[in-house]
Parts: sequence; C-alpha cells; structure tokens
Amino acid sequence: MPALALESREIGVTQRLGPADSKAFEPIDQLLLILPKRPPAALWHSIPQGNKLRALLKKRPAGETPAFQTRLSNKRQTLVVAGKIAGDAEVFEQLTFARKLVAAATTEKAGSLGILVAGFSDEQQHALCNAAVAAALAAAFNLPEFKNKTTAEKIKRIRLLGLNSKVDLSRSIAESKGNNLARWLTALPPNKLDAKNYADFLKDLATKHGWQYKKFDTKALKKLGAGAFLAVAQGNDNDSASIVRLRYRPASSKAAPALSLVGKGIIFDTGGTNLKPFASMLDMHGDMQGSAVAVGTLLAISELKLPLAVDAWLAITENRTGPNAYKSQDVITAANGKTIQTIHTDAEGRMVLADTLTFASRDKPKLMIDYATLTGAVINAITTRYSGVFTNRSDWHPRLKRTGRVCGERVWPFPIGKEFLEDLESDTADIQQCSAKGSADHILAGSFLAEFVENDTPWVHVDLAASNHKGGLAHVPTEVTGFGVRFTISLILDEKLLKAEH
Ligand SMILES: [Zn+2]
Repeated sequence: MPALALESREIGVTQRLGPADSKAFEPIDQLLLILPKRPPAALWHSIPQGNKLRALLKKRPAGETPAFQTRLSNKRQTLVVAGKIAGDAEVFEQLTFARKLVAAATTEKAGSLGILVAGFSDEQQHALCNAAVAAALAAAFNLPEFKNKTTAEKIKRIRLLGLNSKVDLSRSIAESKGNNLARWLTALPPNKLDAKNYADFLKDLATKHGWQYKKFDTKALKKLGAGAFLAVAQGNDNDSASIVRLRYRPASSKAAPALSLVGKGIIFDTGGTNLKPFASMLDMHGDMQGSAVAVGTLLAISELKLPLAVDAWLAITENRTGPNAYKSQDVITAANGKTIQTIHTDAEGRMVLADTLTFASRDKPKLMIDYATLTGAVINAITTRYSGVFTNRSDWHPRLKRTGRVCGERVWPFPIGKEFLEDLESDTADIQQCSAKGSADHILAGSFLAEFVENDTPWVHVDLAASNHKGGLAHVPTEVTGFGVRFTISLILDEKLLKAEH
C-alpha cells in the first residue's frame, strides 16, 4: 500500500440530446440554468415550468450571478440556479461564471447536477457546457483531508440536458484530472508529502499510466555535477532529495522528447539559512506546486493520448536550515560548469531549476516549459490573477498572451536576457544567484535561468503568480489553483506552439 493514495472517485458525465422536457428534469437534484443576456421568448416554452422561471428572472437586477434560485414543483424539488452570460464572453469570464453557479448549487447535499445551456448557438452552447463541466469537476474533487469525519461529497454525477448535438468533453475531463492532481499534491501536508513519499507516489503513478520512471538520487546527481540542486538539498536532514524524470511515450513517437516539462518541487521552504518569518513560511508546503503542475499536465496529455513524446523533470527537495545548509557567499558549480555566487538562500528555486533545466535541455526537446512558484516580485507586478511568462523566444509574447485568453488561465509576458545579467555580475563567480537589492526579481530570476538552458532549446518559464488566489480563480473554487495545466494543453492544441516553431 503506497503512503499516498489519490482519491479515485470518478464523476460520471452523461449527455441528453433533444428538448429539456420534464422527463429530462426528473433525475436532477440541482440544475444550472445558463441563459443569454436576453433569452428569446420561445425559450421559455421549451423548459418545464418556464413561465415561473421567466417571471423570477424578470424581477432580478441584471448582472448578478446567480440571477436567481428556486425550486421546481417536481418530485425531487429540483433546485434551479440560473445565471445570464453573453454568448461571446471571454473564456475566463465563462469559467468564473460557472464557478459561481456551481458554488450556489452545491451548498446542499450531494446529488445529480444537471446543466442546461439554452438560447445560444450550438458553438456557444458547447463552450458553456465545457466551462460548466470544468467548474463542476473542480468543485466535486475533495482536496486531501485527515479528519476522522470526512467532508461529504458534493456532486455525484453530471448530466447535460437540452443538447442539439453531443458535446466533446474529452479535453475538459482530461484537464480536470490534471488540475485536480496538481491541487491535491499541493494541498498535502509537508510531513505526508516528504521527498521519499513524493518520489514513491510518482513511481506508482507512472506504473498506473504506463510512463517510464527514473529517479536521480543525490549520489547520481553528484556524479552529474548538479552542484546547484545539491547546494539546496545538502541542508536536508536526510538524503531523500532527488530529481525525478517521467516519460510519456505513445506508440508512434520517437525516443527523443518533443516537449519537456520542468517543475520546482520544494516540498517545504523555510528560506534556509536566511530564514523566512512565520507568516511567509506558513504555507511553504505549497512551494512544490510547479512540479505538481508539470505532473498534472503530463497526466492530461496522457489521458488525451496526444501523439507526442513528453518528459517531466521534477526537482524535489526541502529548503532547510541546519549546520550543513548552504549560505550566502558560497560559490557553487552547476551541472553546466557555471559557477554561482549565492546571495540569498531563499532564492533556492532558481538553484534547483538551473540544473534541472540543463538536464532537460540536453535531450533537445522542441519545447521546454518550466513551472515554479519562484518569486514574490511577479505577484507584486501582476497580482495573483495572472501568471508571469518569460521566454528565450521573445516573438512568442503575443502567442503566449493569446493562449492565456483562449484557455482562461491568463498570463503576462516579461522580458529576460543578457542585458539584465548586469545586475547579477559577481566578483567571485560567473554569476550571482540574485541581486541583493531585489528589484524586479522575477525578471532577474528568468534571466538567470536562461543561462542554464542548453542547445538554445525553445523555452518558456512560468512564474506561477496565480498558483494561489483567495476564493479560487476561473473555474477552480479552492485557493490552490493548479494553474498551468489548461494553459499548457492550450499552448499545444490551440496555439500549436510545437508545430509552428520559428
Ligand atoms: Zn525560497
């Protein structure tokens, strides 16, 4: 029995074509009724108890979500939660709207959640159904808890009603599995998700999904000269830190990765020798969210069976204080031979990522993406609603922004490059880890990381400002957002960044 086991409850999703008559409503406990800003009069004749619903909607001020709640006079006393949205609303708005409706519908005991999107074009209906399903699957998932009395499940099954044609939900379902996994790992207490359990869990997950698993332990990393990673790991009280590589290889693909995902997996960040104060350290078990997003993305890709060879590289260690912990002014040799003058031990993320990016880029993927809760500076710059993106292909900036808009996980690009390295000039080593002054640290961190990418590998660095957002973000109802899975799938499938490299 593995130490960590992911909840395996799957929520069934069914679809019903044809008009939403009273028979279609019979098995529904809670119904999300999604309407356009100005519902056509004919719409009300096609819905059971339509006149009653229409009257309720008329009484309510515009723009509120939900617009109203009521119960139908049927056997189940179906709770109707209705909301209005423009057919051409941005995806982020659709997802946020869906989250609010689902939240209102799931305040009561678990049941069969119906979704009726009426009065839109087929294309809009399908998009809104996908948004509602994404929100429902995120809400239905329970984050880990260790209470003797566990929280009751919120949604038992999902039924789409009143469809003209079948909706393709495969992507929303795969993305939700990836996002749920990322959030679940992030929410685990740090004594449960220690470095050993994390690697063991990944090994089990790899077996379950037919991925290859390889663990580079500290001994192997010493041989590879991964001094930057090991500088952080040397402060641990045991030897369980590692870099784990997972490989997804569909039958048709070649051995070399087309896509490499890299994640920062600091399972607890005390700040190290330059210790964090209490409030800043409190939630630092979540400093591994980048690695969780990389794994979650790999899971979504694997569930979708994308014909793409993908690697995930996860840098897993704590950042601790102690007699062996690294210090300011240490000089460290990274795996690519560059020497680093350490400045602040709390800038450990860029240390562990430096070597991991070197290893991942040596396999020459066509695209490499890393995810990290890396800097506070990026949150100062854009709040926790967006994440920051950085790339060594600056002509991609408009494409990255567009992808964020298209998928609802929004990003904002920042510049990186050699000119910023002036701020990281060192007297004792090739480069400083960070600047002691600390302005625009997100840009300096990205510029630092670029120095460890080999073979001019096309690379995107995601500084996860939106990893945690109070009250949830887009369709996700929890403060931990798992931001990045949807963005990456959209980068591959919508923006087709892998195909149109230039
Ligand atoms: Zn830190």
